[in-house]
Amino acid sequence: MKKEIICTVCPRGCHIMVEGAGDTVSSVEGYACKRGLEYASAEFAHPVRILTTTVKVTGAQESLLPVRSNNPIPKEKLFECMDVIRAIEVKAPVNCYDVIVADICGTGVNIVSTKTVEAE
Ligand code: SF4
Repeated sequence: MKKEIICTVCPRGCHIMVEGAGDTVSSVEGYACKRGLEYASAEFAHPVRILTTTVKVTGAQESLLPVRSNNPIPKEKLFECMDVIRAIEVKAPVNCYDVIVADICGTGVNIVSTKTVEAE
């Protein structure tokens, strides 16, 4: 399988072609530096994303609390994680960086608040 990956490590945005099967990379072309080679190889073999979203919050003026994962989550787990997050309701007050969901879907990643929300 051949896949084009746009490197997001720096603003240059190199278009990198990666070839391989499963999580085995056989060739990488089009990168301009070692960081791009590492990024594209990892993105091909095991793509991950930082998850950024909101959860419902009660007892506050706002109704939504912005949250994000404290580490990247395997791409194939993102929908499962979103199902968990959608079902959650937290109660104010909430501090920035409070853990909202620990070890979401067994990924070892925590979902944390990115905002302080005072109680009404
Ligand atoms: S390969 Fe290197 S130069 Fe190209 S976008 Fe990635 S980090 Fe930047």
